[in-house]
Amino acid sequence: MKENVYDVIIVGAGPAGLTAAIYSGRYLLNTLVIGELDGGTISEAYEVCNFPTYPNISGMDLSLKMLEQVKKLGIEIKHEIVEDIKSKENFEIKTNNATYKSKKIILAIGREKRKLGLKNEKELLGRGISYCATCDAGFYRDKIVSVIGGSNAALTAALLLSKYAEKVYIIYRKEKFFRAEPAWVKQVESNKKIISIFNSNIIKINGTEQVESIVLDTNKELTVDGIFVEIGSEPNTKLANQLKLKLEKDYIIVDKFQKTSLTGVFAAGDITNNSLKQVITACGEGAIAANSAYEEIVKGN
Ligand SMILES: Cc1cc2nc3c(=O)[nH]c(=O)nc-3n(C[C@H](O)[C@H](O)[C@H](O)COP(=O)(O)OP(=O)(O)OC[C@H]3O[C@@H](n4cnc5c(N)ncnc54)[C@H](O)[C@@H]3O)c2cc1C
Repeated sequence: MKENVYDVIIVGAGPAGLTAAIYSGRYLLNTLVIGELDGGTISEAYEVCNFPTYPNISGMDLSLKMLEQVKKLGIEIKHEIVEDIKSKENFEIKTNNATYKSKKIILAIGREKRKLGLKNEKELLGRGISYCATCDAGFYRDKIVSVIGGSNAALTAALLLSKYAEKVYIIYRKEKFFRAEPAWVKQVESNKKIISIFNSNIIKINGTEQVESIVLDTNKELTVDGIFVEIGSEPNTKLANQLKLKLEKDYIIVDKFQKTSLTGVFAAGDITNNSLKQVITACGEGAIAANSAYEEIVKGN
């Protein structure tokens, strides 16, 4: 039996990977998407107000629309984790379940949420500690919660939590919300349930079975039931290092065709050294990556 070699394997099922799949599918390339989280990081966003076509849409709904479009093209999405990629005559992609082969690869693997690095953090995950307000806000009805961070993600998490919780603290290390969009800052400031605590870092989590309180570096102790960590993300370099791709501060270096330093490997979205980590740019880069892969295949490169 002839071995199945895909034209393109796209690693990642977020906005970059799904847009690459739409373009690749429409070019009639034999395409497979392998992605652990359907829809990617944006599926965890409370509200998206800066993506054209919808003035505001939940991150989950936006992801579902992208997934629907990919599935309509008949493209298969495998919910597996890519563990190893080898560059041979074709690329060999090993997941937790199987091994696949492809002529081209598009890496659209996004970033991972940064952790606090505190004692207890791992043990209390799901027992008061969360990295996804959209997923877990509903568990904190009438409770007291804290959000750590001061970016758009932290502020939108606090706004969502305020719909359920009795009180929401935002703990931020700077003296004001420099990095967040003014529209979100305004909403946070006028929300009576949200209390912003500036110039403070969390240094201790108390609780054994469940989060009970947090201690700040100002010596303040706050009784809380939940801690939502929103202190940014960082790229996972494992796959890029396996392929010996050139990196800039851990992000994959790409050219204007989304080509990486290894022929046949493209990268798109938050994992690249682009200057704006957003859905719109991830989609644009996904489209360019698929187009570049197509051109190479057509030319027989
Ligand atoms: C809370 C929050 C709110 C946000 N709000 C907005 C907003 O309002 N507007 C906006 O434009 N942007 C927003 N963003 C940013 C936006 O989510 C990202 O820019 C966008 O999702 C990047 O898309 P991506 O496809 O590059 O990566 P991601 O969406 O992160 O997708 C990565 C994909 O790769 C998969 N993956 C990773 N490693 C592997 C592996 N080894 N094997 C298999 N699969 C793997 C993941 O499971 C996932 O499917 C927000 C982000 C957060 C966290």
